[in-house]
Amino acid sequence: MIVHLKKGITKKEYDEINEYLLNQDIKVQDISDEKDSKLLLSGSFDRSLLERIYSFDAVLDAKKIRTPYQKVLKINNEKKSIKLPYNNEINENNFIIIAGPCSIESKESLTKIAIEVKKAGANFLRGGAFKLRTSPYSFQGLQEEGLKILHEVGKKLELVTVSEITSISQIDLFIKYVDIIQVGARNMYNYELLKELAKVNKPILLKRAFSATIEELLLSAEYLAEHGNTDIILCERGIRTFNEDIRNTLDLGGVIRLKELTFLPVIVDPSHASGRYEMVPKLSKASLAAGADGLMIEVHDDPLNALSDGAQSLKINKFHKLMDDLKKASSIFDKKI
Ligand code: PEP
Ligand code: MN
Repeated sequence: MIVHLKKGITKKEYDEINEYLLNQDIKVQDISDEKDSKLLLSGSFDRSLLERIYSFDAVLDAKKIRTPYQKVLKINNEKKSIKLPYNNEINENNFIIIAGPCSIESKESLTKIAIEVKKAGANFLRGGAFKLRTSPYSFQGLQEEGLKILHEVGKKLELVTVSEITSISQIDLFIKYVDIIQVGARNMYNYELLKELAKVNKPILLKRAFSATIEELLLSAEYLAEHGNTDIILCERGIRTFNEDIRNTLDLGGVIRLKELTFLPVIVDPSHASGRYEMVPKLSKASLAAGADGLMIEVHDDPLNALSDGAQSLKINKFHKLMDDLKKASSIFDKKI
């Protein structure tokens, strides 16, 4: 609920209403801007509480917000900015590019890919170490050894590192080795993991589950925010639809809607959204046009022999070409790469 306060109220009046609400177990957040003085309330409201709020002289108006999430809701048209190592920042003016292999396979191959990622102008290096594969017989990742390699390569080339966590038991390892902790589509509903990650002082890249509604995604983000971490980057990575010809369907309308509903940055993963490298450049440009704040792209030096997701990984030369195109296009959409 948002309570608008009258202009020019005294400190005593302000304190009175705050104190009353806190005594009712209502959480109060001052969200005043230049134009208005307002409070954001969260908790459970009944009619008598509402009537009591209205009865304060200081109150001009009170409005119920019809969303179950409050901490990640955009209220004053505010935008989140997240500061990252090597002077990087995620904010409304930047279009970030996270690139790298699906899985970290060896130090040699990750170094080779990372050098090209950097050369192309991307500042973020991705690589999976704990892989959640559909088949138990598929490559499961290099695990701790993979994270160490990612950390080493990222540090050497000054690239911000991103990797997916799959269990609470890995949190200490991720704190040690990774700059942005990714929660994959399969774990978006893992609320126990989200609650633990909320206590970690690192940004979280939260991917939308295959079948999640926009509201469910925002509620998962709310778990992180409610428990203390609002450094959240949302990622649309395609959802399951009846289009069987493509691995997933990229929900660009969902991206536009997310940008309306939340102040959190929203990026797109066109690789998992399509499953086919040929589609990645066009989906990337469409994401920029749709107002996304960046991309996460799988890139490999030898996709044919990749240990996972080779079919959707861009070869190095195609990644360079895409980066050139995105750099040209980005100014039209008021974004910097
Ligand atoms: C990934 O980014 O490596 C990944 C497994 O993606 P998703 O969770 O979106 O399937
Ligand atoms: Mn992958």
